[in-house]
Amino acid sequence: MATLFDPDTAVGFVRVAVERGVDHLPDGLTYAIPADLGDLAVGDRVRVPLGRGDTPTPGYVIELCSTAGLDPARIKPVASRDASGALPGQLLELARWISSYYCTPIGMTLSTITPAAVKRRVGMVSRTLVDLPSPSPEASSPEPPPRLSPKQQKALDIVRALPPSERPVELRRLAELAGLRTTEPIKRLIEKAVLTGTVRSTVEATWVEQALDRTVPARLTPGQQQIVEAVGAELWTGFSAHLLFGVTGSGKTEVYIRLIEQVVAAGRVAVVLVPEIALTPQTGGRLIGRFPNHRVAVLHSGLTAAQRHQQWLLAADGTADIVLGARSAVFAPVPDGRLGLIIVDEEHDGSYKQDQAPRYHGRDVAVRRAQLAGCTVLLGSATPSVESWFNATVRHSYRIHRLDQRVPGLRVPRVTVVDFAAERRLRRDRRVHLIGPTLESATADTLRAGGQILMLLNRRGYANYIACSDHRCGWLMCCDDCDATMVYHLDRQLPTGGYLQCHHCEAQQRMPEACPVCGRRVTKFGLGTQRVEQELHHKFPQLVEGETMMRVDSDSMHGARDFHEVLRRFGDGEIRVLLGTQMIAKGLDFPRIQLVGVINADTAINLPDFRATERTYQLVSQVAGRCGRGSGPGRVIVQTFQPQAPVIRLAAADDYEGFVKLEAAERQRCRLPPYTRMARIVIRDSDYARCRETAQLLAESLRGMVGRPRPDATPAIRVRGPAPCPISRIAGRHRHQVEVFADTAAELQALLTAARTAGVVRPGAGMAVDVDPIALM
Ligand code: ADP
Ligand code: ZN
Repeated sequence: MATLFDPDTAVGFVRVAVERGVDHLPDGLTYAIPADLGDLAVGDRVRVPLGRGDTPTPGYVIELCSTAGLDPARIKPVASRDASGALPGQLLELARWISSYYCTPIGMTLSTITPAAVKRRVGMVSRTLVDLPSPSPEASSPEPPPRLSPKQQKALDIVRALPPSERPVELRRLAELAGLRTTEPIKRLIEKAVLTGTVRSTVEATWVEQALDRTVPARLTPGQQQIVEAVGAELWTGFSAHLLFGVTGSGKTEVYIRLIEQVVAAGRVAVVLVPEIALTPQTGGRLIGRFPNHRVAVLHSGLTAAQRHQQWLLAADGTADIVLGARSAVFAPVPDGRLGLIIVDEEHDGSYKQDQAPRYHGRDVAVRRAQLAGCTVLLGSATPSVESWFNATVRHSYRIHRLDQRVPGLRVPRVTVVDFAAERRLRRDRRVHLIGPTLESATADTLRAGGQILMLLNRRGYANYIACSDHRCGWLMCCDDCDATMVYHLDRQLPTGGYLQCHHCEAQQRMPEACPVCGRRVTKFGLGTQRVEQELHHKFPQLVEGETMMRVDSDSMHGARDFHEVLRRFGDGEIRVLLGTQMIAKGLDFPRIQLVGVINADTAINLPDFRATERTYQLVSQVAGRCGRGSGPGRVIVQTFQPQAPVIRLAAADDYEGFVKLEAAERQRCRLPPYTRMARIVIRDSDYARCRETAQLLAESLRGMVGRPRPDATPAIRVRGPAPCPISRIAGRHRHQVEVFADTAAELQALLTAARTAGVVRPGAGMAVDVDPIALM
């Protein structure tokens, strides 16, 4: 107990970040090092007494100090050290940076970095897969069978009795099946070569089972070659950051692969981030397929706790040479000194930003991690974020490399922009048509010619408004707890044929039979993927949902497995049309896609979010890029109510540079990121008045800290608000925001740190702090 500890026996002091978020600042708590833990190091996982009862609480050592900085007599000692679970020192440094930069308690940050399974030490899954040896070709001269103990014989019999679909079998499971208390008898069998034992993780095994793309292009294009050389030359020269701006189909993945080859050949580790690995199985398959002799640790949200732990250990114990995963793979516990390269594919993708604390951006953390590790980071995209473009071309903190041609054999698709309003007037009937005449006839032509089709509509459900059919009544169905309309979803199993759902709090309601205000009929307005699906079937009866046509959105796909299966069937040609939300816009590479239809390019364009145009550009340009990967160039048809909008014209022309120049000029004029840095603080409270008051107080305090600028100067820091958020209530909680803009990241950080220290900013349940926000609703 702490009272029995003699402070004079302390051999030093440490700062420990405990996992419970008691510490609001990134520095952790101070403890004494008892003599028996003299070799404590940064990254070690320890237990420390916390609070009045000295509850042993897990945490990580984040710093060693020679002095306590406080009265040593009052400092408690570290209770114990956990044998496993230490983190590389660089990862701890990264955590401290995140805690400080993204205004999150260090304990909460560390919880994010280490998978829960690692902390609970669950699922120490054995990685040995046991099987029967493949029959030897010289079956004529079999070796005499070795003598087996009864236990060994039993295990062997069990393996022989297993159907082929259940082999190989995991070592411990086999022991269980054979009723053995230890795995020793089976290990003997492996030693005697009666059985084989392969060390492979279950996650890798899953990938290996899938058809992997092992094709190696005969030669790199001159563009690819140049970039591989240029980035390759900087691999061993310390930190460097690169932006690979390559149009869709220009062979960016091949550039990544060649660089990874150099890194693993040098005994170093490459970390590859992809937006959501479940959604980009082709990229994953290509990486794993091209490195059959290297171990690849795969980290993503679709893993079981045990699998996650296992993959994490593969990275931590230095077995894996390549780590592949979504956002959180940036925290792969690669041993210090081994990281050689970090790649962020599709760096513009919004899924790199975590939408809960710590609200970090995977790409920006990757750059920071590369800085700490002194290695190379490569960001790649056909539609770079305005931030990365700015960093590359204005600040010159990234080196830019371009691939402006598609690889030989790939063609640039022909893009047609269709005025949706004009097309609607052409129709004589009064029905709602989401597929206009141009897209309809192109669909018919493509189906007749045996081609495949992608149809994009970035909105799920059937209709996004339910309203009174009489506009003079004006009743609109809204969620009881959110400032949002209810979305209608079809469900054939329900007697009413469908239900209503709020897309913010997930609450469901029944479809009303009549307008609750005036009793007239209710009408469904607006569009959704289900409505497109219905219309496609109506117009092309050969398209049957679940057979020749598949809808891909978060309602129809339950996890990665579903999606992989759909992609397999699409690849086989069984499915002719894939219809869906942005899930189908990412990274698909299928040669028979001959038509891409964008049902409505405007879904995001008018949102009160300054990134709306950027997102519209990315979506249209990315989905268009899925076309033209086979024999013909393919066609893209973009339906829009705003055919003259510059973002639509430029996306149709695939003129990224034209777009980004226009967009950057606009951001500069309005003093928006990346020309300024921004933090958004959202106050949430079930009580409206209290919400408003807290926000008011926060804004005033921040303004007070900033001080008044000289009358002739533009202020370096501006505090905007408070104001209700665009979605002013979610799940019964009112939302008000205060936005802070600063000329530089350093100025913004200085203000936020001062505000945290002064207790003005207290991130928690009632206050969400988002630094460099990307969603502003
Ligand atoms: P991106 O990631 O830029 O969209 P990919 O890397 O997916 O492009 O490449 C598109 C296709 O071109 C892939 O099928 C890939 O195998 C092929 N490819 C890549 N490089 C070459 C090359 N040098 N020669 C021929 N084909 C290539
Ligand atoms: Zn709701």
